[in-house]
Order: sequence, then structure tokens, then C-alpha cells
Amino acid sequence: MSTDLPVVPHWIDGAERPSTSGRTSPVYDPALGVVTKNVALADQAEIDAAVASAAAAFPGWRDTSISKRQSILFAFRELLVARKQELAEILTSEHGKVISDALGEIARGIEIVDLACGFPQLMKGEYSENVSTGVDVYSLRQPLGVVGIISPFNFPAMVPMWFYPLAIAAGNTVVLKPSEKDPSASNWIGALWKEAGLPDGVYTVLHGDKVAVDGLLEHPDVRSISFVGSTPIARYIYENAAKAGKRVQALGGAKNHMLVLPDADLDLVADSAVNAGFGSAGERCMAISVVVAVEPVADALIAKVSERMAGLRTGDGRRGCDMGPLITREHRDKVASYIELAEGDGASVVVDGRGVEPDGEADGFWLGPTLIDRVPTTSRVYTEEIFGPVLSVVRVHSYEEGLALINSGAFGNGTAIFTNDGGAARRFQNEVQVGMIGINVPIPVPVGYHSFGGWKQSLFGDSKAYGVHGFDFFTQEKAVTSRWLDPSHGGINLGFPQN
Ligand code: NAD
Repeated sequence: MSTDLPVVPHWIDGAERPSTSGRTSPVYDPALGVVTKNVALADQAEIDAAVASAAAAFPGWRDTSISKRQSILFAFRELLVARKQELAEILTSEHGKVISDALGEIARGIEIVDLACGFPQLMKGEYSENVSTGVDVYSLRQPLGVVGIISPFNFPAMVPMWFYPLAIAAGNTVVLKPSEKDPSASNWIGALWKEAGLPDGVYTVLHGDKVAVDGLLEHPDVRSISFVGSTPIARYIYENAAKAGKRVQALGGAKNHMLVLPDADLDLVADSAVNAGFGSAGERCMAISVVVAVEPVADALIAKVSERMAGLRTGDGRRGCDMGPLITREHRDKVASYIELAEGDGASVVVDGRGVEPDGEADGFWLGPTLIDRVPTTSRVYTEEIFGPVLSVVRVHSYEEGLALINSGAFGNGTAIFTNDGGAARRFQNEVQVGMIGINVPIPVPVGYHSFGGWKQSLFGDSKAYGVHGFDFFTQEKAVTSRWLDPSHGGINLGFPQN
């Protein structure tokens, strides 16, 4: 650790809390390739302090009126909208994504804050009058208590926002453990909540690594875990949170296919493949990483995609480029190693990003957009999540062959079909084993009032993020059966009442 650099502190009790653990992790500016700060890594005492603060804030927040909670949410939303540029610049400086993409991420996060502002409608219970003579049954929705959120590096603002606006609206208190690679956005959000009037302790940020994650998984006062990250860690979270008796939703990795039928509009397909393959340098769980071209379209499509790729500018996200760097040097090298692997496995590299000349500092973690044709489906380039700007093309000879390929995959996050045949699209949405489907739309991230989540190894647990699923996850229902005695009691009856 460079001692002259600032250390990103925790956010506990509504203020920055410098760490005393003595452990930190470096935070890079990926476009410069240099460490600009360090982030605190929590120890057990800090985990306990964060959870204790959230637990202490819970009773007061739970009993705060709906109208007061709603007014704080609206104030938070207004501040976020007014100051989103500031947040975008923080995202770009630690993640590397270009400013316009950072603003796009924030816009998708604000959608969930919008949804949360309308929470009273979704918190309403149900009432059945006179279910038995003089007896009524009704349901209440109540918060869980302290809820844990563990988020990945690729959407440092949006992914936590999939969860905490709804959790807080519903009356829970939150402990967020952001990715240690780009931690600052979460503290900035803490200060914004404070300005909006949120009581101290309702939103807490605990920075850290596996120690902090395990601490949240094991802590008896943490009632639920919402996790987003890679599949092996999602599985670990799911198993261990369940073992500890917690509610859990764990969203994992992806390998998303775009199926292109011969009747598709190839210009639309080429634009979509480039946008969805290389946006955010391919570091999106809904990025398209495989184009499944139903012959005879592959040659024409590859020509159009390559032509568009030639116009992309890779470089520093603050300079108006199209695509930024990867998150770390190690990750860049790992992604680049798949290009070498593809060559060894007999695929043909059409556009090679390894030779990119970036508009940025030489030490940045650069890898240009890469297109690989004829990727064998046995190759690790096809079977593994690469999470970088590498787009593979697999050629098939029929819709059925393409569908079978997509359905044979381990992941089931997103997919898209491009066609002008409504019947084929309808058949695809019915037959494909994937949670989120685009029809002539390459990145089908559902809007806030629907829910987000994949199938198979892309989601462990039975609850998706946000939308109605999100409210269900962050609330527990009580059913009340009531009778008010008037004028006298009902006498002895050992059976269930029947009339
Ligand atoms: P990651 O799994 O490495 O890290 C996610 C979180 O887990 C971080 O907060 C990290 O600190 C923590 N963590 C890392 N190793 C751990 C360990 N051994 N034990 C306990 N906790 C640990 O993921 P990442 O690299 O930050 O993010 C990229 C991954 O996230 C990709 O696989 C991507 O597909 C996935 N992702 C999925 C979705 C989705 O909605 N399904 C959305 C965004 C990202």
C-alpha cells in the first residue's frame, strides 16, 4: 500500500469512519493504469460495528410513517438527478467506462428509485371481511430488519441501486458491501442519502473482501443477502446464506447469445452486435458474447460488424471515446489470453484487439474490440464467461440448431433473436431456456417495474431483483385473523369454524 494515498473509509452511522483494521486494497484508475487510492478492508470489529449501527437504526426507521419515508425517497431522487454528472465522473475514474455509459448506468439505477418512490402501492395488504361469522382476515407487509447487499465491480452505482431503494422504502436498514475495485460511489451515495434526510444507520457501507462477505453471511442480525457477481461466488453465497437461515437471492455470471435468422435486417443486427458486444468493454452481465448466425448470413454479417468496429475509438472515458479500458491489468491479460486460445483451437480472429492504439495513457488496461469467427463450441472461448470486448461467431444451419446450442449452455441470463418473422420470434420466446429475452433488442434489461434475473447458473434462489420480486424479497407477510366480540363470545368449539 502506498501510504501517501487516501484510504476510502467505511460509511457507518451516517458518516465516514476511517478503518482501524490495518488492511487495504488498491483502487486503480484503469485508463491511467495507476493506483489512485486504497480502500479499507473490514475486520470482524468493523463488521460488528456496521451491523450494530444498522440494527440500532431499524426500529425507528421501521416505525417512520409511510409519508415521511416517501418524502425522503423523493428528495434522494431529486438530488441524484441533479448531481448525476458528479457520480458519473467517480464511476469513470475507478471503473473506466466512458462517461456517457456511466450516465446510462445511473439512469437505469434511477428507474429503481422511481419505483421505490411509489412503494406505498406495493406495500398494501389485502383484506377479506367476514370469512367466518364476525371474523375478518387481512395481511400486512413488514420489513425484515438489517439486509445485506454484496455487489460486483461492473455496475458500481446501478447494481446496488437494484436493491437498496426498495429495501429502504420497505422499512429495512441496509449494509452494502461494494466491490473493492470501485468503492467510492457507494460512499458518495451515503452522503446523498444524508442530505435527503435519511436517518443515520439506515444506509451503511462496509468495505472489504471475503472477510466482510463471510462476516455478513454469518452475522445473526443480518436477515437477508442480495448478491450479484460471478457464478462460483454466487453459488457459495447462496449455499452459505441459506445454511445460516437467511433469505438469499444470488445473481451470477452469463454467456449471452444473439440468434440471427436469415431474414433479419443485417444492418440492425450489426449495430446491435457492436453495441451489445463492446459497450462497457464487454464487462456487462447482459453483454452479447456469442453471435449465432444461421447460414447463409454469417459472411455478410461479419463484414458489416467489422466495418463498424473499424470506427470504434478505444481510450480514456473522459475523452469522448467509445470504449474504455478493462478493470485491472490481470483481467485485461486474462481476456486477451482467450484470443490466443481461440487461435489454438482453430477459430479465425477477424479483428484482433491486442494491437489497439488507445486514445489514453500507455499504462491503461487496454484491449480493443475483438471479433472471432468459427469458434468451436468445445472451446473454452465458447463455454466460459470472458467478460471483455471479445465477440464470438458460431455458424449454424437452422433455427433448431441455434436454439439447441443456446439451451445447452450452463448460463441462462439474457439472449436475443433477430428476425422479421413474428412466428419464429414467438416460438423462440416460448422455447428458449433463458430468463430475459430480446426480440430485435440486444440487451433486454427489464425496466424497473418488471424484475431482473436469469435462469440456471445465472440466478441462485427463487427471487429476482427489483420489480414486484424485489418488494416481496424485502418484506415478510403477516396474516391476521380477527374477531371483535359483540355482544358476546362464540362458545366452545374444538373444530375449525365453518360458518
Ligand atoms: P466477483 O464474483 O468477483 O465479486 C462480486 C462480489 O463478491 C464482490 O463484492 C467481491 O468482493 C466479492 N467476492 C469476491 N471473491 C469472493 C470470495 N472468494 N468470497 C466471498 N466474496 C467474494 O464478481 P466481479 O468480478 O466483481 O463482477 C463480475 C461478475 O459479476 C461477472 O461474472 C458478471 O456476469 C457478474 N454479474 C452478474 C450480474 C447479474 O445480474 N446476473 C450483474 C452484474 C455482474
